[in-house]
Amino acid sequence: MRTPMMAGNWKMNKTIAEAVELARSIRAQVEGFSSVERVLCPAFVCLPAVAEALQGSTIALGAQNMHWADSGAYTGEVSGPMLQGLVSHVIIGHSERRQYFAETDETVNQKIHAALRHGLTPIVCVGESLAQNEAGETHEFVGGQVRAALAGLEAEQVQRIIIAYEPIWAIGTGKAATAEQAQAICGGTVRATLAELYGDPVAQQVRVLYGGSTNQNNIREIMEQPDIDGALIGGASLQADNYSNMVRIT
Ligand code: PEP
Repeated sequence: MRTPMMAGNWKMNKTIAEAVELARSIRAQVEGFSSVERVLCPAFVCLPAVAEALQGSTIALGAQNMHWADSGAYTGEVSGPMLQGLVSHVIIGHSERRQYFAETDETVNQKIHAALRHGLTPIVCVGESLAQNEAGETHEFVGGQVRAALAGLEAEQVQRIIIAYEPIWAIGTGKAATAEQAQAICGGTVRATLAELYGDPVAQQVRVLYGGSTNQNNIREIMEQPDIDGALIGGASLQADNYSNMVRIT
């Protein structure tokens, strides 16, 4: 059985004080919901304070990015050893990082290797643009992203990864994919590619999330889909009530 996950990506939002307040408010509402894995991903500078606010909690903490090298001359970057002990999860290859910070399939793959090396659970993002979607290229493109992300990984490592299918056209737009569209790619592309590469038993163990304009109003239908194991949530995760209701509904 795959444990469902609701992961909140707070992006570049919230000061340290605001992040602590949000974490406390979420904790108060969903602490007891341990059948759903809850992960909060604040900005780097907020991590120590939010970690303190979550101390003793069953809610996990994640980073939004990491570098592939352990240390070195990479101004402004944060490495696996720096995150180890502070977070359990790390988002890798979010489309905003691919779009604005020139991340490629190759660097995403290197970051996944680094995360696993340091005992962090990568939440790996894949997803097509609107133009690719309209051109009917989604299956091929997303399948290619999955293959590239997993290059060089053993089955045992892949089982520790979470993949988030996030169509770029659905992120922050209020236009979520339909539950059927999301299922088609999460199952027919992401899990099917995993099965091709590692066999069905491994593919059945990997959690596949959907991300893109999810909220308390549409999460039920999305979670009813057989190949969707949770959501990576942007905007709605900044609202304690909205996020907590999503956990409750799941
Ligand atoms: C995201 O950025 O990962 C995301 C899914 O954002 P939103 O929920 O706001 O569309």
